[in-house]
Amino acid sequence: MRSRQNRALAAICDAFAPGNGGLPSASELGVPAAVADAVEKNPRASERKQFRQLMSLWDTRLLTALGGGGLKPFSTLSPEEREKVLLSWCDSGVTQRRAAFQALRKGALLTYYMLPGEGGRSSVWDAIGYPGPLGPVENPPPPELHPIRPSADMEIKCDVCIVGSGAGGGTAAGVLAAAGLDVVVLEAGEYYSAKDFDGGEFDGFARMYLNGGAAATADQSLGLLAGATVGGGTVVNYSTSFRTPDDVREEWAAHGVPAFAADEYGASLDAVCERLGVNHEHSTASPRDEVMLRGLEQLGWHWDRMPRNVRGCDQGERCGQCGMGCPLGAKQSTAVTWLVDAQEAGARIVTATAAEKVRVMNGGARGVDARSADGHRVTVTAGAVVAACGAINTPALLKRSGLSNRNIGKHLRLHPVTVVWGMFDEEIRPWHGTMQAIYSDEHRHLDGGYGLKYETAAINPSLLVAFAPWRGGREHADLMEALPSTLGIGALVRDRDAGEVNVGRDGQPVVKYALSDYDRNHLRRGVEGAAEILEAAGARRIYSSHAGWVSYVPGSNGGREQFMRDADSAGWDAARLAMGSFHIMGSARMGGDPAGSACNADGETWDVRNLVVCDASCFPTASGVNPMISIESIAHMNASRLAARL
Ligand SMILES: Cc1cc2nc3c(=O)[nH]c(=O)nc-3n(C[C@H](O)[C@H](O)[C@H](O)COP(=O)(O)OP(=O)(O)OC[C@H]3O[C@@H](n4cnc5c(N)ncnc54)[C@H](O)[C@@H]3O)c2cc1C
Ligand code: SF4
Repeated sequence: MRSRQNRALAAICDAFAPGNGGLPSASELGVPAAVADAVEKNPRASERKQFRQLMSLWDTRLLTALGGGGLKPFSTLSPEEREKVLLSWCDSGVTQRRAAFQALRKGALLTYYMLPGEGGRSSVWDAIGYPGPLGPVENPPPPELHPIRPSADMEIKCDVCIVGSGAGGGTAAGVLAAAGLDVVVLEAGEYYSAKDFDGGEFDGFARMYLNGGAAATADQSLGLLAGATVGGGTVVNYSTSFRTPDDVREEWAAHGVPAFAADEYGASLDAVCERLGVNHEHSTASPRDEVMLRGLEQLGWHWDRMPRNVRGCDQGERCGQCGMGCPLGAKQSTAVTWLVDAQEAGARIVTATAAEKVRVMNGGARGVDARSADGHRVTVTAGAVVAACGAINTPALLKRSGLSNRNIGKHLRLHPVTVVWGMFDEEIRPWHGTMQAIYSDEHRHLDGGYGLKYETAAINPSLLVAFAPWRGGREHADLMEALPSTLGIGALVRDRDAGEVNVGRDGQPVVKYALSDYDRNHLRRGVEGAAEILEAAGARRIYSSHAGWVSYVPGSNGGREQFMRDADSAGWDAARLAMGSFHIMGSARMGGDPAGSACNADGETWDVRNLVVCDASCFPTASGVNPMISIESIAHMNASRLAARL
């Protein structure tokens, strides 16, 4: 970046985190350089260019005036004036300006709170009472996989080439290799095992998440989290292991795939739960979940314990790092289960290699053209191809490969989540303890079979930063300093209505998604419900994840009713409320006919024979529960059918 752009970026970062009251400024910590570095790693050239253009303009008099800062460059304004300019972007009536604010806010503040300082320990963590990452354990279990990382151009022949090694791809590899087929798995990410999992968020996101954790919808209204490493999302996910609910199975069967309601899919669910060791014996509530449970019991609302795919999970101090990989090897990701089975049956796993196109001849899949991170060509010739690179990248791969069914990329579901925050008098230390142990389905059926789930998760600084409002440097620091006694409850909506995945001219996926009024009403009910739980649990102050400050003290000034009126005034439009998605589904769905689906009842694309989708893209609609077990079960079923055909 040029010096003018760097000056603008430094001024913005320092406005977000000016550093006072014992905290260093963003510049003192090296945040601007780290943000610039992260932007350079964004795979989309158009977004990199957009960012540089904004930085070029940011420090001009015109842009500062647009933000109400008078006719002076932003970098010459006082800290108070800079905050005023930033807030004018935050509260703008123009979606693009709000979106730009949110992208800058997250870039600057996430880096500020995640960046390890000298010697791996940030003084910011001390200031907010956060112990920081715990580092790897002594004697971690050894790596079980021996993948190939291309060091030259490669040509490979096999029976089946699987693209992606996550929940779907990993399971398909295990099933197909066990059936005696010669399997090659191509995975865009690198391989990490227990010894590499030190809990560090800065490196962890950069190494193991899609776009370094910075993926979002095109309008920046919703952050998209997905794994991008050997094992995909199953390495970084929270180990919650729900079977597909019966009513959802019926709904999916009605989309033209009767097997979902039949014994065949039930048997796949059983096989997956057995292989992953899904159990209810590892759901000891963390202090965080205990507080939520107290609220739920006080209200008399539904709650239950989470089933989890763990063996030997310590449910203690170590836990809370689950999102950066399990250092104990307790989490039963595909990297320690199905992929190990596949390798033992002779499968080859090729890492740091992204599929560009599926090769198609005479209407059938014949292999994959891929390129390694170091630029080597990898050409795979195969009799069948499994697409399992996640519900953002699978439709992009299919489109790049020339498939034209109009449902490819459509019907995207995200289970949008927002968080409501409670500040308590007691210390909770919400970053530790069992990742997720308790949930509530009190509002699972609001209407038409759709509703929401209440869950908590470990709250490391990044989670609070991602969702909490920024209304000024000091106010934000106050929220962060309250982290040890803060609890966030997530409302996870089963979205009825859909977004879509398109492909840009650069071949990269672009996600478009806007909440429909129907789904927004459910999200609104979730915000109120989470506030009710926090209030019943004894929170002394409650605030939402709106960009505007929406907060109340239970029992005073109109209480929760006023809170909800304030939430309505703050708005529910794009970039007015922080939302995220951990569950990305449905963008190449299975169904009974090509007019309404991208794949048939075997998961095979309608366009190309022996090109089978085996990941969350397959879902006919949202699963309504955390989707890993459903994905693995669909992959198990579709891969078993493919093996029987080959
Ligand atoms: C932080 C987090 C917590 C979660 N917690 C839970 C939970 O507790 N319970 C639950 O049920 N679900 C959870 N989920 C969701 C669940 O993990 C995902 O839905 C699931 O992993 C998706 O499976 P998939 O096969 O569709 O894709 P993924 O698991 O995302 O795998 C796709 C893989 O394909 C690779 N890839 C992408 N493009 C290419 C390409 N072109 N070539 C080669 N490889 C490519 C990616 O690098 C990735 O490794 C969580 C997700 C996240 C991110
Ligand atoms: S909660 Fe802790 S021990 Fe359990 S699976 Fe996650 S990181 Fe591993």
